[in-house]
Amino acid sequence: TPFLRSGLEVLGRYMIDVTQNIDKNDCAICCDKLNEPSSYGDNMSGSGDVVELCFCKHQFHKLCLLTMYNSVHKGNSLQCPCCNTIYGEKTGTCPPGTMEWYIDKDLHLAGYEDYSSICLSYHMSPGIQGPEHPHPGQRYKARGFPRTAFLPDCNQGRKVLKLLIEAFGRRLTFTIGTSTTTGEQNTLTWNEIHHKTESYGNAFGHGYPDPKYLDNVLMELASHGVVE
Ligand code: NAD
Ligand code: ZN
Ligand code: ZN
Repeated sequence: TPFLRSGLEVLGRYMIDVTQNIDKNDCAICCDKLNEPSSYGDNMSGSGDVVELCFCKHQFHKLCLLTMYNSVHKGNSLQCPCCNTIYGEKTGTCPPGTMEWYIDKDLHLAGYEDYSSICLSYHMSPGIQGPEHPHPGQRYKARGFPRTAFLPDCNQGRKVLKLLIEAFGRRLTFTIGTSTTTGEQNTLTWNEIHHKTESYGNAFGHGYPDPKYLDNVLMELASHGVVE
């Protein structure tokens, strides 16, 4: 089928056929034994094939990996479901928008009283979902934009800024889906990279002080492959 072929082009760069030393473990995608055919198998030739990813060496049924690639990723990259190793450069599905930032010398975030602050704002508009989105052809909403977020203007804060700019360029910052806060469907939501949207106080849990925030967001960025 064409969908398997397009995945093969990308995955072919990273997976190696395994014929000997197949793991005795289960395939982490389908939970069936690796040395037995995948339950995704439709008796097409090769449905029992096992492959391993070239860097982390985790093994899967070939068909399971292809199915996962086509249902989850669709970009030009693959993330190992066992260890999160990223193959290729991970990109997201955030629709077009803009990101701006400036330094506010008069804003001092709790816990960073000696520093100025970096104010980021994201401008996103409603539009029509593309083929990479949950409901292609339907409209999506953009609530609460421009959204503003804050970082301390310290060395680590500047590093986070640089990587947030990279993440936005790779379409990772927002996604289209159901908002967990409002329950609204077909709307832009934050996408696993947390932002501090409260400049004063922490009434909604998205403000300062939070001494772990910069470390945490660097880990979230790294889990999407966004590192220096
Ligand atoms: P969501 O509720 O689907 O949650 C996705 C992630 O965003 C979660 O990790 C959640 O912890 C985080 N998140 C939720 N509320 C947040 C907030 N206020 N600030 C920072 N992170 C937040 O995500 P969503 O639907 O994109 O956002 C939740 C709500 O926050 C929406 O109603 C949105 O309009 C509102 N919001 C408004 C502004 C504004 O400037 N008016 C800014 C940010 C968020
Ligand atoms: Zn499998
Ligand atoms: Zn792995």
